[in-house]
Amino acid sequence: MSTLEINDLRKSFGAVEVLKNINLSARSGEFVALVGPSGCGKSTLLSMIAGLESVSSGEIRIDGHLVNDEAPKDRDIAMVFQSYALYPTMSVRQNMTFGMECRGIAKSEQEREIQRVATMLQITPLLDRKPGQLSGGQRQRVAMGRALVRDPKMFLFDEPLSNLDAKLRIEMRSEIKKLHQNVGKTTIYVTHDQIEAMTLATRIAVMNKGVLQQYDTPDEIYRRPANMFVAGFMGSPT
Ligand code: ADP
Ligand code: MG
Repeated sequence: MSTLEINDLRKSFGAVEVLKNINLSARSGEFVALVGPSGCGKSTLLSMIAGLESVSSGEIRIDGHLVNDEAPKDRDIAMVFQSYALYPTMSVRQNMTFGMECRGIAKSEQEREIQRVATMLQITPLLDRKPGQLSGGQRQRVAMGRALVRDPKMFLFDEPLSNLDAKLRIEMRSEIKKLHQNVGKTTIYVTHDQIEAMTLATRIAVMNKGVLQQYDTPDEIYRRPANMFVAGFMGSPT
């Protein structure tokens, strides 16, 4: 488990500043929900933590160690995207082993790891199927499985449930909660669903237009919103 510290982080694309002086930290094992309207910079922030986008200025630290210039593969972070991005021609098993193969993990160890994670996510019967033969919920589980087999330090989720229908979303929400309770990894979870954030997170970061508006427990955010934006966005009583 790892800690995350973000200090005075900024990001510009050309002349446009999309993240402004972000300060945010996550304790070891914490589940942070990152919420805010579309375009406010949530995905950009996750991508910077993962190392997929460069830092314009400021610091990202994992376990106290500055990772600004570290390659994604050296950060030991797993990211699950909204579009599951499974390899369509590979089986579920191959999709899950791919990352382990890249890291040179022995075949026997790979299969043991697949079995462990597949049992946890209840996808063992699906291991020999292709992504095209799976439902949306099953595909999302496989995407999570692929992240889990790497046993990373930290999980980043970018609106993982937004492509699912309402019923499945609620089901998967409680599965993610259980998963976090079992695995206990530090997690940053982007969602635009306030209820999802309230039910899953230990702390919620509310963003608007590249500015972090408030970072606090769900209860505090709901009862003591820092400003009108947070109150409106989180549906606090006024
Ligand atoms: P969110 O995930 O909250 O919807 P994003 O992080 O995707 O928001 O985007 C934040 C802002 O940055 C948006 O205005 C978006 O258009 C812009 N943006 C994101 N990626 C790029 C890029 N590669 N080049 C230029 N602008 C970008
Ligand atoms: Mg996004």
